[in-house]
Amino acid sequence: MKTGVKRALVLELFNKQGGRCCYCDRAMVIMPRGRAQNRLDAATLEHLMTNRRKGWTRRDNMAAACRECNEMRGSAMDWLMFKTYRRGELWELIGGCKDF
Ligand SMILES: [Zn+2]
Repeated sequence: MKTGVKRALVLELFNKQGGRCCYCDRAMVIMPRGRAQNRLDAATLEHLMTNRRKGWTRRDNMAAACRECNEMRGSAMDWLMFKTYRRGELWELIGGCKDF
C-alpha cells in the first residue's frame, strides 16, 4: 500500500474511532508527515487478521491502533483476545467460565 493511501486510511479510522486506540481505548496522536512515528501513542494502521490471505488489505480488516499495542501484539495473538487482554478483561472472562 502506498504511504499516502495508508496515511489517509489511518486518518479516516482515527476519526471514526474518535481518536482512540481500537485495543486499549487510549487517546492517540496523528504524527505529522515525515516525523519519526516512534511515539507510543502514535496512531498506526493495524490489520485485525494477520495472516496474509485474500482480503487481508480490505478496509474491514483495518483499524487504528496506538504504536504500543501494535508492537506488543505482533502477529501471535488473535485480535479479539488481545483487545480483551489490553482492557484487563481477560482474567474476569476466564474466571467467569468455571466449567473449563
Ligand atoms: Zn493501544
